[in-house]
Amino acid sequence: MDIRQVRHIMTCFLIPGGLIFLLFATLWQWQPRPELLQTFIHIFPYVVLAFGFFLGCRFQRSRLLLTLLVLTISQKQLIAFLPQSLSEFYLATIQILLPLNLLWLAFVSERNLLSLATAFRVLFIGVQGAMVWIVHHFYATRSWSIIHTNPFSLTLWNHLHTLLTTQIYPLAVASFALTFSIFIAVFIWRPTTGSGAQLWMLCSVLFAQLTTGDKSLFFTATAALILIVVLLEISHSMAFRDELTGLGSRRALNEYLQRLSGVYSLAMVDIDHFKRVNDTHGHDTGDQVLKMVSGCLAQVKGGGRAFRYGGEEFTVVFTGKKVEDSLPHLEALRVKIAQSVFTLRNKPRPKKKPQKKSSRRTNAQTLSVTVSMGVAQHLERKQSTEQVIKQADTALYRAKRKGRNQIC
Ligand code: GH3
Ligand code: MG
Ligand code: MG
Repeated sequence: MDIRQVRHIMTCFLIPGGLIFLLFATLWQWQPRPELLQTFIHIFPYVVLAFGFFLGCRFQRSRLLLTLLVLTISQKQLIAFLPQSLSEFYLATIQILLPLNLLWLAFVSERNLLSLATAFRVLFIGVQGAMVWIVHHFYATRSWSIIHTNPFSLTLWNHLHTLLTTQIYPLAVASFALTFSIFIAVFIWRPTTGSGAQLWMLCSVLFAQLTTGDKSLFFTATAALILIVVLLEISHSMAFRDELTGLGSRRALNEYLQRLSGVYSLAMVDIDHFKRVNDTHGHDTGDQVLKMVSGCLAQVKGGGRAFRYGGEEFTVVFTGKKVEDSLPHLEALRVKIAQSVFTLRNKPRPKKKPQKKSSRRTNAQTLSVTVSMGVAQHLERKQSTEQVIKQADTALYRAKRKGRNQIC
């Protein structure tokens, strides 16, 4: 694991989930509380929940809406509206059901708001509420005669009741522990902003469940805020990051160039005869080759930054560098890509390992690609970014005409 990966894992773990949780936990602890902070703490939960519901509807994010719904109905404040006899039982079951519901909602796929799937999910949440009420109702009114007549059931019920009310912790702790373990496993398996934030969201929910009153509401809202910020971050990255290669998109390049004013050089990079790769080996292999090339470009040295311009074309920008300063780094990239060997498998791997080792590797084929580059630079203010890109494009076509696999 290199330093880049460690930095990536730490960033995914702490930003934004950890940062939000720690900031809001500190805000809650702040003593003595200034009046402004006190007002903020009172208003914050309602604003966050309302904003979350608005955003979920506007962006068609049914998972966010369902999670907010689950968080809202698990609010301890709501027991004020419940009959006294039900409240204790309700609180107890919530601590068990809440983490399991958050776990379930973390794994379901995103569906249209007005779809049958979403309706069923709402129904499922409603059924759980109804079940809590029904189970309690039968118990409270003692109309469930079997409890009294069947000694086994009676014992079972007593046991369950004791667990759910007086000894809530074993089951609730098991439920939280299970959800935490799965979220941690998911983060270790694939560390992303989303999987990191999920852990902090659950932390916040746990804090909310361990307390009552305003504090509980405050930490539930913090959990909701983490989900909202993650949604915004993911939407931002969808707009500015190319999905296939993970490089910055054309939009990101345009924004980046707009912010530059002084000296910079820019290279347009195009894969040679890429259409042939697609035609010979298929579109999927073409995609793999694009990933391999972009992986090389992402490691550009000398302060360069790579973007996917579109299709099989990329752009590398060197801020503060003239063409002659960026050329050695571009040449290193060209050589690295030309020397990379991409292994293709024509046939899928056999399920059983063959008895004898074949002397000829019949199912492995290798593929190499080369790239051509055109470089231009921005020196004076009068030059627009479009002009620089155009110059680099003209240089690229010169490189193609001169025989490809070179820089002009
Ligand atoms: P040249 O050396 O002159 O650049 O030739 P070329 O074949 O690379 O150029 P051309 O513009 O004729 O073909 C580019 C091909 O890139 C055509 C298109 O199907 C393919 N392409 C564009 N985007 C993608 C993609 O995301 N995935 C795959 N697999 N292919 C893509
Ligand atoms: Mg092209
Ligand atoms: Mg090409």
